[in-house]
Order: sequence, then structure tokens, then C-alpha cells
Amino acid sequence: MNYLVVGCGISGATLGRLLAEKGHKVTIIDSRDEVAGNCYDYFDDDGIDVHKYGTHIFHTDIEPVWKFLSRFTKWYPFQHRVLALIDGQEVPLPFNLNSIHQVFPEKMAATLEEKLLEKFGFNRKVPILELRKTGDKDLQFLADYIYEKVFLHYTLKQWGMKPEDLDPAVTGRVPVYVGRDNRYFYAKYQGIPLEGYTKLVKKMLRHEGIKVHLKTPFTKEMAEHYDHVFYTGPIDEYFDYKYGELPYRSLRFDFIRFDRPFFQDNSVINYPCNYDFTRIGEYKYFLGTKSKRTVVSYEYPQAFVRGENERYYPIVRDENIALYKKYREEADREAKVTFFGRLGDYKYYDIDKSVNRAIEIASQY
Ligand code: UDP
Repeated sequence: MNYLVVGCGISGATLGRLLAEKGHKVTIIDSRDEVAGNCYDYFDDDGIDVHKYGTHIFHTDIEPVWKFLSRFTKWYPFQHRVLALIDGQEVPLPFNLNSIHQVFPEKMAATLEEKLLEKFGFNRKVPILELRKTGDKDLQFLADYIYEKVFLHYTLKQWGMKPEDLDPAVTGRVPVYVGRDNRYFYAKYQGIPLEGYTKLVKKMLRHEGIKVHLKTPFTKEMAEHYDHVFYTGPIDEYFDYKYGELPYRSLRFDFIRFDRPFFQDNSVINYPCNYDFTRIGEYKYFLGTKSKRTVVSYEYPQAFVRGENERYYPIVRDENIALYKKYREEADREAKVTFFGRLGDYKYYDIDKSVNRAIEIASQY
């Protein structure tokens, strides 16, 4: 078959590769002048792998995804940790038993730990919105503390709304953890592509059955020349916004280079309560790069405005999902087009979920 894939991010590239390996002819287009979508990265003058659209840390429990990507890269075995500045202290996030002992006086921490263990058990991950419902006085205090110090102001900055106004899964990504593991992700497979994400994607695209055209926006007329279209662009845009625009959040990054080896003592530090930015990422940590200088990005959330900035996050909440479903019904009637990816599915996919979805689609063609 002769296929068109719209969008050369991780979703489009994965699908393109798998279709080409099945013997199909694949054309991939992207309106940007670079591949890899929001995973795009580059090595700067100091040899530091800078992620242009913010820190991307790969993690997955899905073995076929890990195996597939590992065909195109070796990995730097990076285990991500995040610290959050809370009342002047850098505290492990997800907020866990270590965080509790760091923040509270000993006796109080012991009581809170005991109650958490009694109520939930060791190794449990409890979404903050669930922790707020226990009814226990001490746990209520803890829940209010974490809600206020970790989630409320960060979420107001990040989404322009409170945690309870979003789908619970959004803040559920960063649970309160009844354990001592200080990592941000608990997945079996974690790492950073040794030569960066862009190189990984470029290797994926290196196949005789694949042609890539950059700076090439999609138009509906293109579909006539292909047996099927696989579309990773915004689903509302495809249908000319006939039901209205699906809302997204965007980000602005201030990249700053410092003339010293390190800026901060961790790859990512979150600032839930201070400043207008949400976090600072320092890129040299991700591949353990040794250099005299360092580069960081300050991350400022913003509303997405068409034509002005880029889509980063679908805003997952009931009214937006209802709107998305209208588009999805239309999409299901388009026999010649398959919609997928963060923008096509309007889902808050991590990299591994995007790859997995593309693998599933490829298995049907
Ligand atoms: N979150 C928060 N405080 C934090 C970290 C996360 O309130 O210090 C909430 C916030 O709503 C955020 C969500 O949890 O959007 C998911 O966080 P994650 O770090 O997974 O976001 P991503 O890295 O995808 O931007």
C-alpha cells in the first residue's frame, strides 16, 4: 500500500517505520523543519543534550515498546529524581516517607508514617485527591499540607485551574508514595537515548520504504494520492474546528547557559509555591555530560494560542473530553484516515504510550 503519515513526532515515526517494515510505501510529512516533534533535542557547543521542548525522560513497563526503541538506540541508564522546593527545603517528589521525615519533626513524622502504613500499606501510591478523603485527623493534616505545598499552586500555574477541576489522573501521575523510593518513575525500563531523541527518530526513519518531507503542512487534497492517511495532527484542526477548539496548555522555556559546571544539584527542581515558573531542568544530568558550562531551562506555562505557540498538553477534564468525543465520532466515520498521538487522540500520552499506540495501529495494517 501507499501510505501517508502526517506528523513526524514519536508517534508518526514509529508507525511509519513499522508500516515500511511490512513492505508498504510510506510518506511522512511534518510542518516543522525538524523531525521528532516535541521530543526534538540537539547537542550544544558544550556537548550537552538540550531538549528543545523541555525535559523528556523515557520510562516504561511495556516491554514491546522498550524492545522496539532499543533497536534504534542504546540507553544511558538514567533514573529520574525530582526535588521540590518546599518551605526552603529540597524535598523528594513524589512526596514519600523520606519527604515526610525531612519536612516534619520526628515524632510527628513517625505518627504520619504509622497512619499511612495502617491505612494504605507499604509501597502504595495514593493520589492526592484520594488522600484528602480519609477522614482521619492526622492524615487530613498531611493531605492538606501536601495539597497546598506541592499541588495547588503548581497546578494553578501549570493548568490555570485547581487540581480538582482536572481529571484526577492528571495529579494522580505524581502520587503520594507510602515508601522510601525517591525516584520519580517506578517503571522497569528507564533511560535517555545515548545519542539523543532526534538521533533515535532519525534512525527509525532510515528505511528504503520511508520518505520524509519537512516544512510540509497537510492539506486534505493530499489524501487522494494515498491508500490511507495516518494523522497525528490536532483532531479539531482536521475538522476545521467545526465544534470549537480543543483547549491545550503551552509552555515557554527560558534557556540560560551558566559559565560554571553546575547550576543546581539535581536534574529537575520543581518550584510549586515560588516564582512564576514551575520547574528548572538542567540538561547535562540526563546523559552525565562532563563540561565546564551548563544549560538550564526555566519552564513557564501558558495558554495555547493558535499561531502564537505550540500545543503541549491536552487539558484533560470532562467538558473537553465531551468536545473531543464529538470529533472522535466524526473521525470514526473517516474510513480513509486514522487519528492517533497526543493531538490526534487528545490524550496526555507519555512517550511510551505514544509508541505503544502506534505499534497497535501498525498491527492492523
Ligand atoms: N504536579 C504538581 N506539583 C508538582 C508536580 C506535579 O502539582 O510538583 C501536578 C501538576 O498538576 C502536573 C501534574 O501533577 O501537571 C503532572 O505532573 P508531571 O510531572 O507528570 O507533568 P509533566 O512532566 O508531564 O509536565
